[in-house]
Amino acid sequence: MVFVNIAGALADLYTLQEHDQELDKIKEEQERLEPELVEAREKWADLAARLAQLKERYLTLQHEYKQNDLEIQDMAAKRKKAEEEQMQSSSVREQTQYENRIQQFSTRIDELTELTMPILEEMERLAEQIKELEDEMAQLKPELDSLEAANAERVAKLEDGYQAKLAKREQMAASIPKNLLREYQAIRRARKGVGVAIVVAKAGVYRCSACSVQLPPHVAQRVYQGQQAIRCSSCGRLLWKGPEQQ
Ligand SMILES: [Zn+2]
Repeated sequence: MVFVNIAGALADLYTLQEHDQELDKIKEEQERLEPELVEAREKWADLAARLAQLKERYLTLQHEYKQNDLEIQDMAAKRKKAEEEQMQSSSVREQTQYENRIQQFSTRIDELTELTMPILEEMERLAEQIKELEDEMAQLKPELDSLEAANAERVAKLEDGYQAKLAKREQMAASIPKNLLREYQAIRRARKGVGVAIVVAKAGVYRCSACSVQLPPHVAQRVYQGQQAIRCSSCGRLLWKGPEQQ
């Protein structure tokens, strides 16, 4: 592919790259959070995680408690029925049988009641801890909210500048040949935000300004001729002869 004036297009591309790098810097700046906000977010996340854990444990215990309670109610109902039947019965043998069943129900009720006690105690402790954590979070919330609001404002302000620069950038990009632009963008994505590099000539030695590799004289020669797009043999970036060689 031959361009009529590739050198001019590369010069434009180099200027475009400066804009792209400024845009990258704004994006980075937007991502850079105040240490206070990072700290508050971490603290919040930590409290929320601990709270979720406690609530989960509380629900498990609550379930166990309900299961026990249901079984106690069931045993109590069965015991009551056996007691009623015992009263209706006149046979001594039956009386004894009922007595045994009633005893079995009572033993199970005692067992379940004993199991329930520590569950209730732990639930009570958990409820206190949950309350403490919720209080701590409620205390942190206004500080976190105001830090988040300040950050959102900061990001929005940067975004205004970003959009203005981006519009200008798109305007510049429109005058650059599409193929060259696409190639530049692909290289830039793969190569740390630098898609086009300058040839630096010093004491008869030519180097790629991006990766510093020494370029063979015939490669440098072709870049200076500006007949076609030449890429650095080492880093693959597009090479431009630079402003001094215009
Ligand atoms: Zn290079």
